[in-house]
Amino acid sequence: MPELPEVEITARRLDAALRGATIESAVAPGINALKTFDPPLSAIEGRAITSITRRGKQFVIEVAGGLALLVHLMSAGRLQLYGKRAGPRDRTSRLLLGIEDDRELRLREFGTKQAAWVKLLPATAIDDEELIATLGPEAWPQPPEDLKARLKAPRPLHTLLRDQRVIAGIGRSWVDEILWTARLSPFKRGNDLSEQGALALRAAIATVLDGAIEHYENVVALPIADKLPLPLQVHRKGGEPCPRCGTTIEQVHYEDYVMCYCPAEQTAGKVLKDRRLSRLLK
Ligand SMILES: [Zn+2]
Repeated sequence: MPELPEVEITARRLDAALRGATIESAVAPGINALKTFDPPLSAIEGRAITSITRRGKQFVIEVAGGLALLVHLMSAGRLQLYGKRAGPRDRTSRLLLGIEDDRELRLREFGTKQAAWVKLLPATAIDDEELIATLGPEAWPQPPEDLKARLKAPRPLHTLLRDQRVIAGIGRSWVDEILWTARLSPFKRGNDLSEQGALALRAAIATVLDGAIEHYENVVALPIADKLPLPLQVHRKGGEPCPRCGTTIEQVHYEDYVMCYCPAEQTAGKVLKDRRLSRLLK
């Protein structure tokens, strides 16, 4: 599940390698990957990549002549640069950009769903795309000053922080790390957040995302591995001792993800009901 730190390091690596390089061919083998038809994908062939940047959890690949690709990895996509062209049998391919020197930039997707997508737009139209236009302020490098006001809703922090319209870039992995770092309950309502809690949360967002990106700077290299080495302390660590206080990390299972927290430090000792278990016991 690529989130802000994973997309940031990927954009940095790809930008460094591809800025100025010419796109020789462009195809979208995924059935539904390309969401636009005008201009056609072939319009970027023969043009140079001018930059690869990140907006929230999305990539923007700008191309000479005023065009841009907006790329959304969804939950299982990866953007990777290979020194060779893929064979036609790679069923994970959603977008293949043949780059000079026989390289290939691939949007690949793992799992059964085809959800990752690409739009080819005039570069000036990116900001008007609904997904981009509705993004909240970036969580990093400077979390929004008005964080407390932005979170003022009767919804759990765990939900609010993952809402890209509230704050951009945080998802299921990093939200657990951020709330644990701030010693805040994932179930605390946004409108119950104290001044002090909001300060701790803002500091935690900056520290955790900074730390992740710094870690990736040391360990992530092209072509960009299928699985990045996420430096996690609590997320996916249910049943293990909390690295800070030794209490067993508890987890709550939802349909397609798991929330982890330290009961001693985040929920005043309270162990929250596992939704999956309570559903089975009904
Ligand atoms: Zn703890």
